[in-house]
Amino acid sequence: MDRWCQGSILRDLFTYIFYLDENKQCLVIDKWHNNEWNCNRRRPVRGGIEVEQLDALNSLLAQVSCSNLDEKWCWTITSDQFFPASSIRVLLDRSMDVCRNTYWNKVIPSKVLNFFLRLLLNRLPDKKNLQDRNISCSSYTCLDCGFTLEDANHVFFHCPTATHVWSCITMWVCISLPRWKDLLDLMNWLASASPNPKKSLVLHCVCIATLWSIWRFRNDIVFQTGLFKKSYILDNIFVSSFDWFYARYFFV
Ligand SMILES: [Zn+2]
Repeated sequence: MDRWCQGSILRDLFTYIFYLDENKQCLVIDKWHNNEWNCNRRRPVRGGIEVEQLDALNSLLAQVSCSNLDEKWCWTITSDQFFPASSIRVLLDRSMDVCRNTYWNKVIPSKVLNFFLRLLLNRLPDKKNLQDRNISCSSYTCLDCGFTLEDANHVFFHCPTATHVWSCITMWVCISLPRWKDLLDLMNWLASASPNPKKSLVLHCVCIATLWSIWRFRNDIVFQTGLFKKSYILDNIFVSSFDWFYARYFFV
């Protein structure tokens, strides 16, 4: 079942031959004797696709040479094939095309970072995503403004509440923030907003606190909890940004 040959699982490449094999849970070493591939099949191959797959398997394995050493796991991300925890970061960095200071930000609480990563991957349960997954809702429009379909870009950047909040944040941080059209736009701006690491970290905190507060307000409307009113959004951004930064910056 390992990807030890051709980067794929032989079971998937040669399904008919796999089906005939009597020992489907074996290791490579169980099949490989004297530089030959040995199989016990329930019956001989009968022709057609079975013969084609067997020929293809044999010609593939003819190019492989196995050592007599014990089998072991290798971590292929690093050149020495040993596993350091830091290589997971490298792996994630390659798959996430955004500023790594954002999602490796130690100042921001993990709960909020988790929310942010879901937003980054467009995995938040906004109405558009629920509709795409055929989940029934009484309405798919934004419950705050009622103007349009509620998707992440609308909630965080185009809803009148969001645009008002971002304009207030502009005044608070005394920086002329552009009107971002989507999250990628915001991420690109953040990546080059300030060469000063501390200022950059503050801007990241403020922007993610803003997104987090807007989402909390949105959830309050959807679930009608009455716990996070519109008037709380700005206060929550100010308090969260200060709390995160001053409580954790000097300890990371
Ligand atoms: Zn709206």
